[in-house]
Amino acid sequence: MTQSKPKNQSSRDRFIEFAKNGNIILNQCNKCNNIILETVYYCDKCFSSSFKQISYIGKGTVVTYTIQAVAPEGFEDVNSYAWVIFKLDDCNINVSGFLPGISSPSDLPLGSKIKVVDFHEKHGLILQKYQ
Ligand SMILES: [Zn+2]
Repeated sequence: MTQSKPKNQSSRDRFIEFAKNGNIILNQCNKCNNIILETVYYCDKCFSSSFKQISYIGKGTVVTYTIQAVAPEGFEDVNSYAWVIFKLDDCNINVSGFLPGISSPSDLPLGSKIKVVDFHEKHGLILQKYQ
């Protein structure tokens, strides 16, 4: 391959690349140091739009979730899944993601440990349970 990567990778591409390696990129406000999601454009504390990107290990604890019995397009092979909100271990912030293979609340007690394992173009972060 002679083709080189574009020099200015978009922040979304970077987010995806990090997610595929099990990490989460978050924005830290340059003004007040508040940590916010990468998809948010303004700091919710001081409304600044000047951020720096910080990567965190994409591991955390399940805070809440919704079980869906009908899998979305692209996941037809998955019978049911959970849309999970989890709190990162290294940072007091909640992130949401897609966890395949969950069909009842007994499959995923609150407080379960989960980690980011991949990123899907349409559905976002793909999660996995771990011990
Ligand atoms: Zn701020």
